[in-house]
Amino acid sequence: MAPPYHKILIITAPSGAGKTSIARFLMKQFPQLAFSISAATRPARINETNGKDYYFMSLEEFKQRIQRNEFIEWEMVYEGRYYGTLKSELERIWKENRIPVLDIDVKGAIHVQQEYPINTLSIFVEPPSVESLKGRLKGRGSETDDSLTTRVNKASYELTFKDHFNKSILNEHFEQACTKAKELVERFINNNG
Ligand code: 5GP
Repeated sequence: MAPPYHKILIITAPSGAGKTSIARFLMKQFPQLAFSISAATRPARINETNGKDYYFMSLEEFKQRIQRNEFIEWEMVYEGRYYGTLKSELERIWKENRIPVLDIDVKGAIHVQQEYPINTLSIFVEPPSVESLKGRLKGRGSETDDSLTTRVNKASYELTFKDHFNKSILNEHFEQACTKAKELVERFINNNG
């Protein structure tokens, strides 16, 4: 099989639009894809594992890594909470001849696209409405009233960036959104350009 020429797949969306579920679906469909584990300074949720969901680290360690230029991109996604894609993570996945899947916020996604304009597919997952997004975040049960409001406000702003990405998918019906994503990714994987 031809090598994947250091491709990158970005799945981006406002928080709660369903991008993680779509990313998981895609990774099940295509063994060539591998989840890019981000660094994050927020505390791990109860069902999360360090080194699997995120590389959880202190703010101090995160800042040292910024200084050492270890990130492709990083963002303070929420007040005081930093998230970033480590160069070493992409290298790790490329070494396995696989394609990293970056499940990251809109600003981070724009940065990665600028840094790697070739061989990158960016998919924006669009929620049917801000209300639906709020409902999903509530259902997840991981947010306080304050963090819910922060996420919903940020989401409304992020929706305005839809046209910055290669493709967008409306996530009104999960199965249809997955089918569309699968088609796009299949083409991307098979294109050896
Ligand atoms: P959560 O705290 O719910 O896991 O993630 C919050 C937001 O941060 C989500 O939109 C998620 O996609 C985004 N995120 C996760 N990792 C990264 C990253 O490495 N870089 C950026 N820019 N955003 C990230």
